Amino acid sequence: MTRMPIHVYNTLSRKKENFAPSIEETIGVYVCGVTPYSSTHLGHARPSVVWDVIKKFLVWRGYRVYHVQNFTDVDDKIIARANEEGISPLELSAKYAQDYLESMDALGVSRADIYPKVSEHIPEIINMIERLIKKGYAYPSEGNVYYDVEKFTDYGKLSNQRLDELQSGTRFEVDPNKKNPMDFALWKSAKEGEISWDSPWGPGRPGWHIECSVMSEKYLGSNFHFHGGGNDLIFPHHENEIAQSEAATGQPLARYWLHNGMMNFKDSKMSKSLGNIVTIKDVLKKYPKELIRFFILSNHYRSELEYHEEKLTESNKGLRRLNETVKNAICAISLAKNRELNKQDQRILEKIEQCEKDYIAAMEDDFNSALAIASLFDLCRELNGYLSTTNQEGINATVLEKAVETFKVLAGDILGILILDEEKSSDDLVNPLMELILELRQDLRKEKNFKLADKIRDKLSELNILVEDTPQGPRWKQMNGQ
Ligand SMILES: [Zn+2]
Repeated sequence: MTRMPIHVYNTLSRKKENFAPSIEETIGVYVCGVTPYSSTHLGHARPSVVWDVIKKFLVWRGYRVYHVQNFTDVDDKIIARANEEGISPLELSAKYAQDYLESMDALGVSRADIYPKVSEHIPEIINMIERLIKKGYAYPSEGNVYYDVEKFTDYGKLSNQRLDELQSGTRFEVDPNKKNPMDFALWKSAKEGEISWDSPWGPGRPGWHIECSVMSEKYLGSNFHFHGGGNDLIFPHHENEIAQSEAATGQPLARYWLHNGMMNFKDSKMSKSLGNIVTIKDVLKKYPKELIRFFILSNHYRSELEYHEEKLTESNKGLRRLNETVKNAICAISLAKNRELNKQDQRILEKIEQCEKDYIAAMEDDFNSALAIASLFDLCRELNGYLSTTNQEGINATVLEKAVETFKVLAGDILGILILDEEKSSDDLVNPLMELILELRQDLRKEKNFKLADKIRDKLSELNILVEDTPQGPRWKQMNGQ
């Protein structure tokens, strides 16, 4: 396998750069993770699917990858929500971290090698803050510790802003504890009754940015390959990570900064604070994971992506076309002949090779999954023509096997958009059908037509489908073998 340098757009240099690691080195990837304080939503799916595919592509090309992704398991939002639910902040964040992992498993996202948590790295965090104080980059103040941005001459290099521009462009509340209003907290003193840890500056907890500097250093060292995250993290989070890490270690934090665009939900960034929530588990009740992945991957990872349900169902047409071609090819293998290759067979073999070349070129150009998918559709068209061949020699089994194998690797193993399991695809139909039946039954109940509503429930029960009416609405489950 010949290996060309991969081109990646680096936010730090604002241009595409060559990325040509030797095959012996392990590619270090740090992706900023989530703050688990409520159910995992579709906005979380984008960076996860994008990095899942980047990793799978690199591994297929023969590289080793080590992926670190943190959980911010203590912060203001977690504390507020835990108080509402009457449980401890760490219990709450553990619950939603588990929800995140389950949602990602359900999306077919391969797990990171490690998911470090803030609460499990307090000694390392205190150690880095002490190093920063010793080097003159940080100062304690009234039980807090702040980073002194004026000391770090490169401050603003990632977001391409100068400190004086940042200062004049932002309104600040005057904080008597800070030397400069842009200074940010490395350690926050504990408020009355709040979760806290002992430190040389009194009880408190870490500021938001320090954890990523500490965890990336611990698990990947300095100057590792890729640092990823959403483009909403460029400033201040990643700018502050750079200021902390580079001041503490004297080394660049990461070589390439890759930022994915946001998933927008009806013209506004999908976020919990705006209430635009579509949880992954809910969406997966209606649609197969392959469709969500296809929807995300049909767009370049850096572009903004607007989500609404009609767009998702619209892209289902393309996904179905791709999958039907592959299924038809699989069915045709048993009918095809094992004979010498003719001119038409040769041509298709060349097209298969061309598809793989185009796919690799697209992925090696800043991981352009949208173009990679286009190369799969090019092959689909050729293959459909071949499958409808009516000449006497018919189609060749070896050619079909090669085509199917190519789709299985490129569309299946790497992109995760191939649906070949028949049982699975009938499941994908059952969920929306059940939703429809239950919705109609609800309408009948509203009209007080209980006789018909009960008949539906009883008939479903005969099919081993149990319907329960709960205060949140009807639920159903399949009773296996009863
Ligand atoms: Zn981070």
